Amino acid sequence: MVKVKLMPYIYHTASRDITVNSYLVSSDSTNVVIDPCDIDAIVETLGTRKLDAVLLTHGHWDHILGIKDCVERFGCKVYASVNAPAKFADPHLNCSDTHNFVYQTHIPQSSLVLLQGDSNFVIGDINVTAQHFGGHCDCSIFYYIQDNCFVGDSLFVHKVVHTEFPTSNATELAINTKNFLDSHRLENLNIYPGHTDPYKLSEII
Ligand SMILES: [Zn+2]
Repeated sequence: MVKVKLMPYIYHTASRDITVNSYLVSSDSTNVVIDPCDIDAIVETLGTRKLDAVLLTHGHWDHILGIKDCVERFGCKVYASVNAPAKFADPHLNCSDTHNFVYQTHIPQSSLVLLQGDSNFVIGDINVTAQHFGGHCDCSIFYYIQDNCFVGDSLFVHKVVHTEFPTSNATELAINTKNFLDSHRLENLNIYPGHTDPYKLSEII
């Protein structure tokens, strides 16, 4: 079984503090970070272990803060939606402009593994299923690893999913959410959101 370690990161914007969840998923031999923020926290948590890959739930600024550091430090690949890179250097698309600052990052094409639709892939000895989950934005992805599901900003238990951003689609979100809940209601998945505490799927069904 993989272990999941929550690495919360507090980002101080001009208007308020925002806590973002990064996760380290580890097997005996493989380490993957979901939505990296703070490279120092990642390195400290890894200890002597290496980072094998980054998975992005979507391309909003607060979920991509640490991707460049991870690539430069570990030479790892970044898995993301084919629609995510357009947001990396665009403060409007990555929504940093909604907090009145400019965030831009650049990742070499050779370091990206771009996902389209749903897919299965293996990183070391960790099997990952990626599911496109448009609605919050057009590059949102759910990642399933064993009985864990990493949902970014697309599914919360006590928090509204925002759909007012560029490339948001409220109708698509509603359809995808209903299909997800219908498909997985018999599985007690561990849900790991991009903000707020992790929870069990049974808490929202
Ligand atoms: Zn978001």
